[in-house]
Amino acid sequence: MSLLVVGTVAFDAIETPFGKTDKIIGGAATYIGLSASKFHDEINLVSVVGGDFPQSAIDMLHNHKVDTKGLQIKKDEKTFFWSGRYHNDMNTRDTMDTQLNVLETFNPVVPAEYQNCELLMLGNLMPSIQQKVLDQLEERPKLIVLDTMNFWMDNFLDDLMVALKNVDVLTINDEEARQLSGEYSLVKAAKKILSFGPKFLIIKKGEHGALLFNSEEVFFAPALPLEDVFDPTGAGDTFAGGFVGHLCATKDYSFENMKRAVIIGSAMASFCVEKFGTERMDGLSKDEVNRRISEFVDLVQFDIQLV
Ligand code: AMP
Repeated sequence: MSLLVVGTVAFDAIETPFGKTDKIIGGAATYIGLSASKFHDEINLVSVVGGDFPQSAIDMLHNHKVDTKGLQIKKDEKTFFWSGRYHNDMNTRDTMDTQLNVLETFNPVVPAEYQNCELLMLGNLMPSIQQKVLDQLEERPKLIVLDTMNFWMDNFLDDLMVALKNVDVLTINDEEARQLSGEYSLVKAAKKILSFGPKFLIIKKGEHGALLFNSEEVFFAPALPLEDVFDPTGAGDTFAGGFVGHLCATKDYSFENMKRAVIIGSAMASFCVEKFGTERMDGLSKDEVNRRISEFVDLVQFDIQLV
């Protein structure tokens, strides 16, 4: 059963304290697909690019078993472009430019072969487009995960609130959780956000790990302490890719299995930040993934005798 991924396929320009890149391949769906492909081999992509997007990048997705029948190519238009600059802490960044280009008129079409998917990952995208994908599905997937960001909260909050009613899991970062809920305490924020529709909430806290909530329980996964973080771009999407990839491969949507999925997402994100853009994820082997997941288990496991 397939994993349907919707989100941006993009050009990014990134500046970190370690260097600067010109236009490189990025986009939420790109990172999600590359990451999920380490766990699941039926990944279908719905997105849009312009005529300026290189075939080599589409080939890279194919090499990672990501099907691109649902990737529209608008020959006379330009690909979505995002540029960001990271602060010295590498946890916070400023968006310098967002050029929607092809996204402005994007009308997503879910190909017939992509119907009846097991899991739908609505990557960061205009909320009305996320909703349009939901409306096209003939059967509700077993799990619907939605990722979003402050840009859409600032500009399209009403549309986002509509989409949130229809999803099972929301993933956002701590700043966005505070913005969406109006609460500073992340526990209070989680309670409020869960009342908007999702049954599960994941709050990503960059190098400080991630929290998973449902209405009764909470679980915390740390981030792997890394000596060097070169470029955090795509870490959130790579996390989401590992999370949904594991769930799709195991078909177990319990809180217990979501805890494992959060650890796997964290392990995948720890690779993404080691090089600029998609470079690390493109060259990653399954052996490296397995080793790092074991490192995570060692990192969080301890025995305690209560006296
Ligand atoms: P992350 O670092 O996980 O938040 O994701 C960064 C990726 O998100 C980059 O590759 C961008 O192309 C993409 N991105 C940035 N802004 C947006 C936006 N407003 N909507 C969708 N994708 C975006």
